[in-house]
Amino acid sequence: MTAVSPNSKQQPKHQKARALKPGSRRPAKELCSECGLCDTYYIHYVKEACAFLNQQFDALETQTHGRRRDLTKEDDWYFGVHQDMMAARKQHPIEGAQWTGIVSAIAIEMLNRGLVEGVVCVQNTKEDRFQPMPVIARTPEEILAARVNKPTLSPNLSVLEQVEQSGLKRLLVIGVGCQIQALRAVQDQLGLEKLYVLGTPCVDNVTREGLQKFLETTSRSPDTVVHYEFMQDFRIHFKHEDGSTEMVPFFGLKTNQLKDVFAPSCMSCFDYVNGLADLVVGYMGAPFGWQWIVVRNETGKAMLDLVMDQLETQPVMSQGDRRQAVQQSIPAYDRGVTLPMWAAKLMGVVIERIGPKGLEYARFSIDSHFTRNYLYVKRNHPEKLEAHVPEFAKRIVGQYKLPE
Ligand SMILES: Cc1cc2nc3c(=O)[nH]c(=O)nc-3n(C[C@H](O)[C@H](O)[C@H](O)COP(=O)(O)OP(=O)(O)OC[C@H]3O[C@@H](n4cnc5c(N)ncnc54)[C@H](O)[C@@H]3O)c2cc1C
Repeated sequence: MTAVSPNSKQQPKHQKARALKPGSRRPAKELCSECGLCDTYYIHYVKEACAFLNQQFDALETQTHGRRRDLTKEDDWYFGVHQDMMAARKQHPIEGAQWTGIVSAIAIEMLNRGLVEGVVCVQNTKEDRFQPMPVIARTPEEILAARVNKPTLSPNLSVLEQVEQSGLKRLLVIGVGCQIQALRAVQDQLGLEKLYVLGTPCVDNVTREGLQKFLETTSRSPDTVVHYEFMQDFRIHFKHEDGSTEMVPFFGLKTNQLKDVFAPSCMSCFDYVNGLADLVVGYMGAPFGWQWIVVRNETGKAMLDLVMDQLETQPVMSQGDRRQAVQQSIPAYDRGVTLPMWAAKLMGVVIERIGPKGLEYARFSIDSHFTRNYLYVKRNHPEKLEAHVPEFAKRIVGQYKLPE
């Protein structure tokens, strides 16, 4: 079944449906990514809309971009339908943003110029800087208060009922792949005249408890971390309250202790690059220090154009060959191999010098995660493997030799 089609004459059936209570078991069971759909009466559509119950990239890409991925083009397998890519950074970065604040800047421009009346984004609670609190922002200040990643599963779609009830007609939604897949499936039911979607790539997300374990296992001072990112230099950069930066090489991660930390939904996800957003802003296809922009369609282009005068840009580049490094890392990850820190640091330095850069780094990261996730689905949900893994991901995974 493809995206849900609207029923304009009668009162929509979904309005009679009941949202699930917090903490109750979700239709996708352990694969639930807590996107928030089931916290609203749009749960009515969950069987078709949930990314983990119904994989429908082809239909939703065609609905959104006018075409599905062209499987004869390797760039389409990796980066999805797109008309342009570039590296960019804000000339004047927004302080406290995850990178330079391109996402927040676009949202603010759209609101200020009256293109949208509200922006779905995620702030944090007063008590906990990492506890997500989705909102419909109506002012630039509220958008700015949502800057920086909440590196946890976030129920962004939980505000969708408020969208319909408040009569908003033009909306921007900022979100990660699983949220956007469900959103695209129900978008015609929201009563909107225009929906804009600004996506970020996303991988290896965790519950709030999982995040605590990750920080405690990996950082020297888990309680003072304000921000972290898995960077293109093969290190995790933790920023602390006092402004200091701590760097931990990927190869030094305590894989054996961290194997169960990532959410099962993220271990089963093949939408790293947010294929259904109009515009995607990440970092992994850009040189270190720059953000990576993927324009998927005309709507996305119009959104990016609003901030072009605030950006410095350069063409995307690609350097190195990822394949051997990916192939070697597959059995090492599978066995939970953890290197001593000196060896991890050395390996980090070597791979930073000779390793993949730009788009090839993005391919390295996609290959590593898709092979891992394919094995995870095969071993834990074999009955889902065939339908859940999209064709583009099967082609990516098919380049490698996998353990049983
Ligand atoms: C969980 C997560 C994992 C990511 N992993 C990668 C990756 O592997 N590779 C890559 O290239 N990019 C990744 N990104 C994107 C990247 O880290 C930056 O968010 C992006 O480049 C935008 O930076 P910015 O400075 O423009 O954002 P800002 O201006 O700081 O705005 C950040 C926006 O992200 C939204 N947001 C924050 N947390 C969440 C969340 N949990 N769910 C949904 N929306 C959220 C906020 O609403 C805010 O509007 C990830 C993002 C998230 C949220």
